[in-house]
Amino acid sequence: MQSEQSVESVVRNFQQELSGTNCRLVAVSKTHPVELIQQAYDAGQRLFGENRVQELTAKQPALPADIEWHLIGHLQTNKVKFVAPFVHTIQSIDSLKLLLEIERQAARAGRVIQGLLQFHIADEETKFGLSLPEAEALLQEALPQLQHVRLAGVMGIATNTDDESQLRQEFRTLRGYFEQLKASYFADDTGFREISMGMSSDYRLAIEEGSTLIRVGSAIFGHRAYPTPTA
Ligand SMILES: *Cc1c(COP(=O)(O)O)cnc(C)c1O
Repeated sequence: MQSEQSVESVVRNFQQELSGTNCRLVAVSKTHPVELIQQAYDAGQRLFGENRVQELTAKQPALPADIEWHLIGHLQTNKVKFVAPFVHTIQSIDSLKLLLEIERQAARAGRVIQGLLQFHIADEETKFGLSLPEAEALLQEALPQLQHVRLAGVMGIATNTDDESQLRQEFRTLRGYFEQLKASYFADDTGFREISMGMSSDYRLAIEEGSTLIRVGSAIFGHRAYPTPTA
């Protein structure tokens, strides 16, 4: 079931809401057909997010080449090679092994892939993501080796709750991680600047707390026909 407003008009409303802010919209198109994605594209949307490799590689060839595809779901190392030829950003880097495989596959493809480090900020056990010490250990090991991955910031998935103060707390935690990594490892790197947080139900709070990339699905494309893991 689609929302009552057209995809085009919702996308235009987001463009208005975000104009003059430091925040951009990633339209999360998982489970939705290429026709709806094309409608969002026609309204000017260029950043799209998918959480499954198989779905992403099926849709990408059917859509305009200048879309910036963001992979936002948990990624297994053995699947990196399928997205390396075209993916713009992998938002879900949560291990050294994955990061080094992205480096390897991006080099093979002759590309530079943008990456975000995914942090665990929710109070739910099931969500993937690094702790700050894990991220620091990962960076110390990996940074000297990276030539085909441009680390651009952090990503987190907040708890699925209506509790506004808890959500703000989690967004602030992620922003704090960003600031610490920026100061310790990326002080001279203007490209380290993204804080990906906020979804359909909480993106306004996330923007207030400093989000630079909101990941919005159902508020644009309507309810998903079947549930997907929000890994
Ligand atoms: C599905 C998904 C979203 C979008 O969720 P909505 O509630 O539909 O806006 C954002 N981030 C991730 C990681 C997701 O998997």
